[in-house]
Amino acid sequence: MAATGPVVVVGAGLSGLSAAIHLAARGREVVVVEARDEPGGCCGSASLGPYRFDTGPSVLTMPDVLTDTLGAAGEDVENSLPLRRLDPFYRMAFHDGSHLDVVAGAQEMADNVRALCGPHEAARYLRFRRRLGAMFDAEWSSFIDADMTRLRAMARPAALLRLAAAGGFRRMDRFVSAQLTDERLVRAHTFQALYVGLAPDRALAIYAAVSHMDTVGGVYFPVEGGMRAIPAALAAAAEKAGAHLRYGVRAERVETGPSGVSAVRLDTGERITAGHAVIACDLVRAHTGLLPEAAGDWRLRRPRYSPSCLVMHFGLNHRPPGRAHHTLHFGREWAATFAALASGRPQADPSLLITCPSGDATAAPDGHATLSVLEPAPNLASGADWGRLTPRLEQRMLSRLADLGYGDLSAAPSITFDPPAWARLGHSAGTPFALDHRFRQTAWLRPSGRSRRVPGLHFAGMYTAPGVGVPPALISGRLAATRILEGGR
Ligand SMILES: Cc1cc2nc3c(=O)[nH]c(=O)nc-3n(C[C@H](O)[C@H](O)[C@H](O)COP(=O)(O)OP(=O)(O)OC[C@H]3O[C@@H](n4cnc5c(N)ncnc54)[C@H](O)[C@@H]3O)c2cc1C
Repeated sequence: MAATGPVVVVGAGLSGLSAAIHLAARGREVVVVEARDEPGGCCGSASLGPYRFDTGPSVLTMPDVLTDTLGAAGEDVENSLPLRRLDPFYRMAFHDGSHLDVVAGAQEMADNVRALCGPHEAARYLRFRRRLGAMFDAEWSSFIDADMTRLRAMARPAALLRLAAAGGFRRMDRFVSAQLTDERLVRAHTFQALYVGLAPDRALAIYAAVSHMDTVGGVYFPVEGGMRAIPAALAAAAEKAGAHLRYGVRAERVETGPSGVSAVRLDTGERITAGHAVIACDLVRAHTGLLPEAAGDWRLRRPRYSPSCLVMHFGLNHRPPGRAHHTLHFGREWAATFAALASGRPQADPSLLITCPSGDATAAPDGHATLSVLEPAPNLASGADWGRLTPRLEQRMLSRLADLGYGDLSAAPSITFDPPAWARLGHSAGTPFALDHRFRQTAWLRPSGRSRRVPGLHFAGMYTAPGVGVPPALISGRLAATRILEGGR
C-alpha cells in the first residue's frame, strides 16, 4: 500500500535537494530538514571579513545533470543559474617547470600534448581519449545512472562485458600507462583516482571515467556567485516546486511502525508523521541514533574511508595576474605520496590544487581576490595529533606557495579546514569524501539506496551509489525520488 503524508528528506546537501526537487515537482508533499543554517552541505561557503570562499567543489562537471535537476522543477539553467565553461579547464603544472593546459576539443588538446610531449604521444593521446570516451559510454547507463537497488541493474551481463572489454576492471594506472608513455600525461590522467579515495594502482579503471568527465567533458562555473550559487538555485527550485525547507533543524530519530517508516522526530521536539524518509547525509553517523536498528546495512559493517584534505583559503589584497581558475601543481614524488596517504601519513611532497576563482564578483571586494589551496591529507583514522600537524602543514603550504610564485601569503587573512574541522562539520573520520570507491564499496556493494527491512526508508548522497561528487550526489537524489514515486514505498 502506498504511504501517505510528506516525504521527509534529511539533509539539504546536493543529494537531498535533488530528491526534494524531483519529489515536489511530481506533486509529493516534501519537508527537508537541514541541521545547518543554509543549503549545500559539502558544497558550502565560509566568510572571512569581506571575503567569501567556496569550501567544497570549485568546479562543476557534467553540467547536464544539474540542468536536468533544475529542469525537473521547470527551471531553465540559462535563467536561474547561468554557467560558464572554464578555459583552460585545468592547468597541470609539473615539477620540471613544464605545464599542460587542458582545453576543449580533441585537436586543440592534441596540439597541447604535442607541444609538451611530441607527435607520437599526441597520436597516442587521441587514441586514449577515444578509449576513455568508450569507457564512459559503457558505464553511464549501467553504473553511474543506474539504480543499484534494482535487480535488473545487477543482472546486465552485456553491460559488464562491454565494460570489461573497455578495460574497466583493470587498475587505473595500468589502463592509462598502457596507452600513454609520458609520465606527466599519465599523472594528468590518473590523479583523479584520489577523487574516489584511492591510489591509481588501487582504483579500478572504470574510475578513469572521472578523467573523461573533467578533461574531455569540461569544467564549468556559475557566472555569478561562485559554486555556492548551485545549492542556492537548487533550494529555490525545490521551494518553488512546493517543498518546505527547514534550516537549523536536526532530524533525531526515524520512527517506524508495523508498515515501515511512520515519522521523523526532530531536535525541536516535533514529530513529522511520514511514510517515507530519504536520508541524504553521512550514513555512518545516521546509523548511530537516527536510524532504527532494523535499517542496518551489512555494507557499512567495515567502512573504509577516503583520505581527507587540508584546505587553506586566503583573502588577497590584489588579483594574482595570469593564473588559471584551476592549477594542479604536481609534486616531484608520485607513488610514494599515495603510499603515505594509504598508511595514514601526510604526503611528503603533495600535489596542490589551487583555485583562483575567476569572475566571481561576490568573492572579494574590487581589486581583491581569493585563493584556495587543497592538499590531500590522511583522515582521522590515522590517529595523528592534528593540533601539532596542522600548523606544520600550513607552514609548509605557505612556503610552497611562495616557491610556486604566489608570493608571501603568511600575513594574508586565511581560514583552514583540516580533518578535525571536517569532523566538526559532521563528517565521519574527518573526511568530507565519505567511503572510498574500492571494489567492495562500488556500485551494488556501496551502501544501498533503500532499506530492505524498513519499508519507506531510502538513502541518497555520496555514501550510496554512484558515489562521491556533485553529479553523483544529484543523481542519487533523483534515484531515491524515482523509487518513491514509482514504487509507492
Ligand atoms: C573540499 C571539497 C572539494 C570537492 N571537490 C569536488 C569537485 O571538484 N567535484 C565534485 O564533483 N565534487 C567535489 N566534492 C564532493 C562533493 O561536494 C560532495 O560529494 C557532494 O556535495 C556530497 O553531497 P551529499 O548530499 O551527498 O552530502 P553532504 O554535502 O554532506 O550533505 C549532507 C547534509 O546533511 C546535513 N545533515 C547531516 N545530518 C543531519 C541531520 N541529522 N538532520 C538534518 N540535517 C543533517 C548536513 O548538515 C549536510 O548539509 C568536494 C567536496 C569537498 C568537501
